[in-house]
Amino acid sequence: MFRALVVEKDGDDTHAGIQVMDESRLPDGDVTVAVEYSTLNYKDGLCIGPGGGLVRNYPHVPGIDFAGTVESSDSDRFKPGDKVVLTGWRVGEVHWGGYAEKARVKADWLLPLPDGLTTRQAMAVGTAGLTAMLALLRLEDQGLQPGQGPVLVTGASGGVGSVAVALLAAAGHEVAAVTGRPDNADYLKDLGATTIVPREDIAETVKRPLESETWAGCIDAVGGAMLARVLGQMKHGASVAAVGLAGGANLPTTVVPFLLRGINLLGIDSVTCPNEIRGVAWSRIASDLDLSKLDGMVVPATLEDLPELGNSILEGGVKGRVVVDVT
Ligand code: NDP
Repeated sequence: MFRALVVEKDGDDTHAGIQVMDESRLPDGDVTVAVEYSTLNYKDGLCIGPGGGLVRNYPHVPGIDFAGTVESSDSDRFKPGDKVVLTGWRVGEVHWGGYAEKARVKADWLLPLPDGLTTRQAMAVGTAGLTAMLALLRLEDQGLQPGQGPVLVTGASGGVGSVAVALLAAAGHEVAAVTGRPDNADYLKDLGATTIVPREDIAETVKRPLESETWAGCIDAVGGAMLARVLGQMKHGASVAAVGLAGGANLPTTVVPFLLRGINLLGIDSVTCPNEIRGVAWSRIASDLDLSKLDGMVVPATLEDLPELGNSILEGGVKGRVVVDVT
């Protein structure tokens, strides 16, 4: 028997609560993992609540990422006792996820725990942090180097934003952090931000398609009008990694920044990203991310806390990375 946070559907409503269940209820898969830690990402907020179109079947166990120890395995890639990490592959959305003491998944979705990280640290990074690293790798592939000017991070106090600030600073960049929460300025400076940009300075809809060339790169967790505005503020030939939509899915822009400034808009997909690239990203995280800064981002939580925290992340109320101790 094991404990899980289960979302039940009741008409148009959903309700999340802790249930004790038998292993026979676990979905198909070739590896069973004793989950130690999971996390809370924006998508988890959707899946704990009304689903946002992500969850197909109820009852459902959310949790889009987890780390733990292999308990049993029909795959020759993993054996009992191996430490593993999982992010993406629509686990926690269409497949039961990490908000349970046990998870059963496909071996192809698992990676060995990166050297140098504990299961708790891996989940402090989680999907949000891995995605921030994937974004930085793409910006570097496009030629971003320290010394070219400030790199902007939008939604900076959130999960993706916090790790992005710390990773960019560790790579030697000047980091400008956009936040709607001025109280988080010291937190963001501790992570490595050199400048704080108030959200209202950059949130208004585009009035002129091109503004002063300001940013050498951008990791954008917000989308919407803010992303449109940022495109017109990039330096010539610079790139924006589009990661999220915390501020909206529409992109009310023109093609002018692309045509007159050669701006690149790079899409970041952490869900189906090939394992080879994930491996590169995790190694870079393990070698570059200052673990004391990672510690400073962590908000500890339990399965019981998740319904309330799920609402909070959808309202932009979570700071840093919520790490869920599942045991
Ligand atoms: P968080 O809620 O932790 O962070 C989002 C941050 O955005 C908030 O903390 C807040 O930061 C800011 N924000 C919230 N609402 C608004 C708004 N209306 N306008 C402007 N800024 C706002 O979420 P995550 O960091 O987990 O995820 C961020 C986004 O990235 C989500 O849309 C998520 O779905 C997406 N994502 C995409 C992935 C991919 O593979 N492409 C993987 C992981 C996440 P502040 O208060 O500092 O302004």
